[in-house]
Amino acid sequence: METGTEARRRFKVNGIVQGVGFRPFVYRIAVARGLKGFIRNTASGVLIEVQGEAGVIEGFSRKLQSECPPLSKIETFEETAVPCVREEGFTIGASGEGEEVETLIPPDIALCGDCRTELQDPLNRRFRYPFINCTNCGPRYTIVGRLPYDRPFTSMHGFTMCPECEREYHDPLDRRFHAQPNACPVCGPAALLLDAAGEKIEFPDAVAGAAAMLREGKIVALKGVGGFHLAVDASNDEAVRRLRERKGREAKPFAVMVRDIGIVSRYCDCTPAEAAALASPEAPIVLLRNRGTGELAPSVAPGNDRLGVMLPYSPLHLLLCADAPEVLVMTSANFSEEPIVTDNVEALSRLGCVADCFLMHNRPIWLKCDDSVTIELSGKLRQLRRSRGYVPAPVFLREGGPVVLATGGELKNTLALLKGTHALLSQHIGDMKNYEAWRHFEQAAEHLQHLFQAKPELIVHDLHPGYMTTEWALKQGLPVLGVQHHHAHLASCLAENREDGPVIGLMLDGTGYGTDGTIWGGEVLAGDIAGAERFASFEAMPLPGGDIAVTQPWRLALGYLHRSFSDMPELPFMQGKPVGPVLELIGKGNNVHETSSCGRLFDAVSALSGLRDEISYEGQAAIELMHAAKGETGTGAFTHELREEGGRWTMLVSPIIRDAVRAVRQGSSLQEISRMFHRTMVNLLLDITGKASKASGIRTVALSGGVFQNALLFETLVRELETAGYRVLAHSLVPSNDGGLSLGQAVIGRSFLAGNYRGIR
Ligand code: ZN
Ligand code: ZN
Ligand code: FE
Repeated sequence: METGTEARRRFKVNGIVQGVGFRPFVYRIAVARGLKGFIRNTASGVLIEVQGEAGVIEGFSRKLQSECPPLSKIETFEETAVPCVREEGFTIGASGEGEEVETLIPPDIALCGDCRTELQDPLNRRFRYPFINCTNCGPRYTIVGRLPYDRPFTSMHGFTMCPECEREYHDPLDRRFHAQPNACPVCGPAALLLDAAGEKIEFPDAVAGAAAMLREGKIVALKGVGGFHLAVDASNDEAVRRLRERKGREAKPFAVMVRDIGIVSRYCDCTPAEAAALASPEAPIVLLRNRGTGELAPSVAPGNDRLGVMLPYSPLHLLLCADAPEVLVMTSANFSEEPIVTDNVEALSRLGCVADCFLMHNRPIWLKCDDSVTIELSGKLRQLRRSRGYVPAPVFLREGGPVVLATGGELKNTLALLKGTHALLSQHIGDMKNYEAWRHFEQAAEHLQHLFQAKPELIVHDLHPGYMTTEWALKQGLPVLGVQHHHAHLASCLAENREDGPVIGLMLDGTGYGTDGTIWGGEVLAGDIAGAERFASFEAMPLPGGDIAVTQPWRLALGYLHRSFSDMPELPFMQGKPVGPVLELIGKGNNVHETSSCGRLFDAVSALSGLRDEISYEGQAAIELMHAAKGETGTGAFTHELREEGGRWTMLVSPIIRDAVRAVRQGSSLQEISRMFHRTMVNLLLDITGKASKASGIRTVALSGGVFQNALLFETLVRELETAGYRVLAHSLVPSNDGGLSLGQAVIGRSFLAGNYRGIR
C-alpha cells in the first residue's frame, strides 16, 4: 500500500442511526475495504473515523450514504478530513465518555425478509420459531422499561441467551449484533395455547392449534406485539357476529389481517402506494377500497366501503395466518374505547367471556401500543392513528427549541414531547374517559420524559377546563399554557409540513372548546403557530342535552331544525321519538349548548335524512352519510350563504338544513342528498377561502380537524382548492383528528416561551 496517499476522514451522521443496525453496517463496509478506524454513538447520531487509501475512503463514503440499513434515516451528513493516527483495525466503540447520548428507541418493526426466510427454512435453528427477530426487525418500544436500551432493562430480562444466541449478539458481522430481543427456541420466549378457563390445551404446536380453532370458527385471543387481539375467521358471518355480540361492539368496522400481499387484491383495490404501506416495516392497517365481492362476512365492516387491512407483521402472526383462514378479523382486545389489554393474567380474566381460547406467550408487553391506521388520500398516505411501527420515531421539526410537553385532547389522545428538532409523539392512548386510559396516559407521559431524558420547561394543554388532560397538566407544578383546540390543529398541520405560515386554516372538526366558552368545531382561522384570527365560523346551532346529542343524532337534528324553521317540519325520522319533550327543552334552552361544530352538521344531516338516528361508535352518522354518496359529489347543491359582521364571517347552516329538508320531502334518495350536501360544503369552503384570501392576501390553505377523515370531502376540496390556485397543506405524518393535536399544542408552547404567542383573536 502506498502510504503517501493514506488519509483519514471523519463522518458525523445524525438522524435515526442508533438501534437500527447502523454500527454493524459501517463495521462491515469498513472491514471489507481494509479501513482502520472506529464508530461510536454520540448525542444525536454516530461518529465515524476511517483511515486508509483516499480512493477507498471515497468508495466507503458513497456506500455509507447509499446503502444504509433499511430502518435508518440520515438527517444530516458531515464529512471532514482529519490527521492520520496510529491505529489497529476497525472498532465499534462504546459511547463517548461523559457525553450525553440520546438514545432513540426504535419503533416495533415488522418481520424482515431475512428472518422470514429463516422462519420458513426447516434447516434453520429458528424454523417456525414465533419470536425470531434481528437488528432489522422485532419488538422494541413495547419491551423497553427504562434506559439504557439494553437487554436487562427490557422485558427480555428474564431470558438468558444461550451460547449460540450470545455469540450472534456479540459478533459485529452478525445480523443479530446487539439485537436486544435476540432469542431462539432454546433460550427465548415460547407460545402457549390456553382454553377460555385458562387451562393449557395440549397441542404439539400452540400456533397450529390456534389456527385449527380459527378454522372451526372459534374466537382466539392472540397476544401480539403491542397487546392482545381478538381474531376470528372473516369469511364466517356467524362467527364474526358472535364476536360483535360478546365484545359489545355493534357496528364499528373491524380490521382484518390478510395472509399475504398477493391475495389482498382479491378483496380490495390496492394502489402501489397502499401495497407498499402494507408491506412496510411499520406494517399499519391501511384503509383500502373494499371490492365487496361477497367473500367476506357482511358483519366485518357494515355500512363502510373501506376495509382496514394489515399483513402479518410478527412471526407469530405469520405462522398463524399460514394455517388459518386467509382473512382474519383482527381487532384490538379492549372494551368500549378502553386501552388494549396487554397482560396475560388480565387477558384471562377480562377476555375469558369473549375468547374461546388464548394464544399467549411469556414475553411481557411493557407498553401498550395499538395498530396504526393509515389511508391514501389525494395521492398521499395519511395517518389516522399513529402508533405501533411509528412510535417513538420522531416527527422532524424545522427548528429546535426548549423542551415542551403537550397533553393532547380528550378523544384519540396522544402526548407530544419536543426535544431539539424532534417531536416525540406517544402512541395512541385513546379516549380519556375511563380509568384504564388514564393510567395509560400517565405511564406514557412519564415514559416519554424518561426515554428521551427531557424535562419540560412548559406543559401545554387544551383550553377545556374539564378535560382530564388539562387537570393533569395543572398538577405537575410546572409552567402551563392552555391552547385553543383549533389553533392547535392549525399549528399541528404547519409543524408537520415544516412551514411557518401564515395560512388560511380550514379547521373542520367535531368539538373544541372556544375562547368564548362555547363549543367550536367549524372554524376558518387566518394566522400561524403563534396566533390566528377567527376569520369565520359556522352558524351556532343548539346541542340539546350536550353529549347525548352526539350519540343520538336525531336529537341534534331536532335542534338544527328548531333553529332553521319557524314552523317545525314533520319528517319521517321523527317517528316513534319523543319529539315533543325534546323540542320543549330546546325551546327553553334547558341544558342546550351552542356549537359551531362541523362534525355535528354532518350528523344532523345524516339524521334528518333518515340515514342514522343513533350511533354506536364515534363518527358513525357522518361516515355513513359519506358512503351514501358513493364517492362523488355531483353538481347539484343546497343554498349556502355567508354573512359578514364587523369583519367576522358566519357560514350559515340554516339555509343548508332547510334545503336538505326540502330534498327529503321531495323524496330524493340518500345518495342524492349526500352528494348535494358534500357539494354544498365544498362550494361554501371555496367561497369562504376566497373571502379570507382577499382580506389577508394569503394564498396557502391548511386543512385540519377530524372531519377531514372524510375521504370524499377531503379529496374534492383539495382538488378544487388547487385548481383555484391555492397551495394546500394537509396532514400526513400525524392525524388530522385529535391524535395530532398534541404536536400543535407543543409547537405553540415554543412560540409562547419565545415570547411570540398571540393566541386566538
Ligand atoms: Zn429480522
Ligand atoms: Zn438462544
Ligand atoms: Fe379536534
